[in-house]
Amino acid sequence: MNQQELLTPITYLKGVGPTKADLLEKELGIHTFHDLLNHFPFRYIDKTKYYKINELKQVNSEVQILGQITSLRMIPQKRGKRLEAVFEDATGNMKLVWFRGHKWIRENIKVNTPYIIFGKITWMGSTPSMPHPEMELLETHKKELKVSMQPVYSLTEKLTKKGVSNRVLNKMILELFKLAKNGFTETLSQEVIEQNKLVSRSKALLNVHFPQSADLLHKARHRLKFEEFFFIQLQLIRKNLIKKTKIKGYPFKELGHHFHQFYNEVLPFELTNAQKRVVKEIRKDLASNAQMNRLLQGDVGSGKTIVGLMSMLMAIDNGFQACMMAPTEILATQHYEGIAEMCEKLGIQVKLLTGSTKTKERRIIHEALENGNLHILIGTHALIEPKVNFKNLGLAIIDEQHRFGVAQRAKLWKKNKLPPHILVMTATPIPRTLAMSVYGDLDISVIDELPPGRKPIKTVHRYDSHRLRVFKFIRDEINKGRQIYMVYPLIEESANFDYKDLMDGYESVVREFPKPKYQVSIVHGNMKAQDKAYEMQRFVNGETQIMVATTVIEVGVNVPNASVMIIESAEKFGLSQLHQLRGRVGRGAEQSYCILLTGHKLSSDGKVRLETMTQTNDGFKIAEVDLKLRGPGDLMGTQQSGVLNLKIADLIQDGSILKLARSIAYQVLKLDPDLTNKANFPIRITYEQVVKDKQIWNYIS
Ligand code: ADP
Ligand code: MG
Repeated sequence: MNQQELLTPITYLKGVGPTKADLLEKELGIHTFHDLLNHFPFRYIDKTKYYKINELKQVNSEVQILGQITSLRMIPQKRGKRLEAVFEDATGNMKLVWFRGHKWIRENIKVNTPYIIFGKITWMGSTPSMPHPEMELLETHKKELKVSMQPVYSLTEKLTKKGVSNRVLNKMILELFKLAKNGFTETLSQEVIEQNKLVSRSKALLNVHFPQSADLLHKARHRLKFEEFFFIQLQLIRKNLIKKTKIKGYPFKELGHHFHQFYNEVLPFELTNAQKRVVKEIRKDLASNAQMNRLLQGDVGSGKTIVGLMSMLMAIDNGFQACMMAPTEILATQHYEGIAEMCEKLGIQVKLLTGSTKTKERRIIHEALENGNLHILIGTHALIEPKVNFKNLGLAIIDEQHRFGVAQRAKLWKKNKLPPHILVMTATPIPRTLAMSVYGDLDISVIDELPPGRKPIKTVHRYDSHRLRVFKFIRDEINKGRQIYMVYPLIEESANFDYKDLMDGYESVVREFPKPKYQVSIVHGNMKAQDKAYEMQRFVNGETQIMVATTVIEVGVNVPNASVMIIESAEKFGLSQLHQLRGRVGRGAEQSYCILLTGHKLSSDGKVRLETMTQTNDGFKIAEVDLKLRGPGDLMGTQQSGVLNLKIADLIQDGSILKLARSIAYQVLKLDPDLTNKANFPIRITYEQVVKDKQIWNYIS
């Protein structure tokens, strides 16, 4: 069936009259064959597994069992009656229960005949039971088309009420496959299919609706996700290519001696494979004639800073300057200290510029920047002030991008005749960042591997009432030589209320951990920058064992000896913030802990957040839960949420497929910008169709 035929209205399908067609249209937006074909199941039930009744002990979900009914009886209950059957297999027996439809069941059910039953197990004391099971005679089952995974479609209540159940929908789709003789016109070129080992479109569609095996289902979904991303990317990249031919960048042709010397003599560890890969990706961008706009994603502690530094060395080796901008003064200072130390051996000049840099120092920096004696400038927003002028800025790095807007990036652009290459580093794989790739604005690199030897952080949730035990734990850790963070929520830096919480907390900590045996640091937003830096430094030096702080320490701070993160009123923090905070520990060789303290009253979302934190350390999984809790509208801004209107692919989960689709789309367009090659004919036909639908153009411009 070709694309044109797929546009046939759904009412022409066998078994779909005008009434059903109307319902499908209103409830699910299905107008055509194409729409029905693209109404993908949202989950599958494994039909290859049969449970034995004596295996059901811990099961509370849907199961499939083979056995027979041995007896049936009506049981009176408070209101009306229920019908109960005893269902047996070789290992034991259970109950089947019906609260409605008794007559039909009594007349149709066969006793002592093998059935396959399917449904959710509930427990009545120690007896498993299944209310309203789906039942099928074993004999009938053997004759049917074998599917190992039963698809489950999203339906509305109204549809089910009017008799369009999951089964009915599945039958309609089967009808469509019969009509098409299982053949649907290919939308990708043979080359793209072979190169990426994709299954054909027909095979993918068949297996997504009627999976022949778990493996084929996986391949089918992969192919369809790829395709979905591919056509979005095709449009975005065409738009981007037009833009790029205009925006030239400085090509950094050389990998020079600073880079090599750093790699061979200074770098204190072996790079992880992910870091190596990302450095190569950046290197390739920088060597080309086009301006780089790249997003570097990596979980907290994955080692983005080194990658940033190595990129800056590429700029310097080609006679350019580089800068790195961080969202807080503390973080900028830390970057400065680490990077300056490593650069000393290389004879590279590094300076720090923040809001609290003295006028005199400022003047020196401005001058050195303009005459080119200063190679690397690290700082806060102070970097983008108009007074700061570079001789030849080649690369600008922005750390922890979520605090910088597009407007600020644009200011960096203006610092030169040609815009500098831009690398944005973030530890927060929020959908927004992935969406950027959907917008075609940034290319993406991912560090998906932590340096070796890190022990996963143990995370627990404790109620305030267990505070004394938590204090004891802290004391034990301090006795082992460790350091502790205690973080208080601060919704607004100036909010007096939060400030009081923090000070009360600080006082109780000082009471509990008295001088001179213990030393406690405090850092919060109301302090002068130099006091903050002083306190921070004491903690970094190990002079204080406990750091009481607000979320100023959220991003980037690196104290490997700190192994315990206590988060007060943890229910008040968002998931990504909790994850960021936790990332402050687990940076050394010791086992690290994160303790989430809360009151007893918790919202249901709050509970999910805490559970998620105790269950996983994976930033991508956390971002996914965050998306579910907060909803795409909240995360993406409402007018952009159309981006998430994907049929099968998932922006968060399928990031790697997105990346693949994007690079293949690039490759195709590079060789054949207008898709006029004969081999790309299938792509062009679909592309034209998609563009005609204008779905994407609406939300990118
Ligand atoms: P983030 O990605 O969160 O910014 P950092 O760049 O601060 O992480 O790195 C975290 C810590 O890991 C730093 O102490 C850094 O020196 C160290 N590190 C980075 N890469 C490696 C590596 N390949 N092997 C060992 N340690 C590394
Ligand atoms: Mg960092």
